[in-house]
Amino acid sequence: MGRYLGGQCKVCRREGTKLFLKGIRCNTEKCSFAKRPTPPGMHGMRRASKPTYYAIQLREKQKVKRSYGMLEKQFHRFFQLATKSRGVTGRTLLQLLERRLDNVVFKALFASSRNQARQLVLHGSVFIKGKRTNIPSYLVGADQEIEIRVKDDVKKRIKERIEVIAKERGVPSWIDVDNNNLKIKIVRLPEKEDIVLAVNEQLIVELYSK
Ligand code: SF4
Repeated sequence: MGRYLGGQCKVCRREGTKLFLKGIRCNTEKCSFAKRPTPPGMHGMRRASKPTYYAIQLREKQKVKRSYGMLEKQFHRFFQLATKSRGVTGRTLLQLLERRLDNVVFKALFASSRNQARQLVLHGSVFIKGKRTNIPSYLVGADQEIEIRVKDDVKKRIKERIEVIAKERGVPSWIDVDNNNLKIKIVRLPEKEDIVLAVNEQLIVELYSK
């Protein structure tokens, strides 16, 4: 599955908010959005005209999609999955996104960004119920146990990183983390209230329902 390979900071500037795509750097004065919160490109400094309702819907969708590091096709597939589920589509979509394996590794603080978490998954370092799982979009379920198995030197680096990341963000209450053994237990499924990013998911539902 592909992923966006362009500049991460440009994405934050385009969406007009910090999406925390670059890990530890995002919380330092090096953050490009903090320095230049205008859209990228030569016309970025121009005063923007009032956006249309469609543009607002589109930006909301792009913000969420890019925050989770997904391309359009995969994001749309998640939306379709949400429409087929029993709950309210928008909330279910957010829940599905949050349940992605790469997101769970990121939320457990084992990686400083979703991109880094995705690499851990792709490199075959993540095991679910003892079975290697290298699919970043794998959806975790309640009561599942996840373990990171890496060489001792990598383990040491991850643990050092956790200490740094923990100063900036906490672990959500729907997961339980054993930092020492790099293990995660899914206590319950995430809810919309567990999502840090400010999202109006109804705008995304409206956009895709046209
Ligand atoms: Fe976004 Fe992080 Fe770049 Fe800041 S440093 S603009 S939050 S990706």
